[in-house]
Amino acid sequence: MTPRSLYDRYMAADREYRAHAATCTGCTEQSRCATGEPLFQLFARLQDAYLAGQRKR
Ligand SMILES: [Zn+2]
Repeated sequence: MTPRSLYDRYMAADREYRAHAATCTGCTEQSRCATGEPLFQLFARLQDAYLAGQRKR
């Protein structure tokens, strides 16, 4: 298996969180349920890292 790029992991985390939030009644724009929160945190971390990498170029 080839290692996935940061962008791929960022997109995968985005999909995973959105897929959860789409069906979860506990997740809103302001707050996440116990399952959604770690998914969102991972997405936010990868997004920050990805955008930080973009700015350096
Ligand atoms: Zn949720």
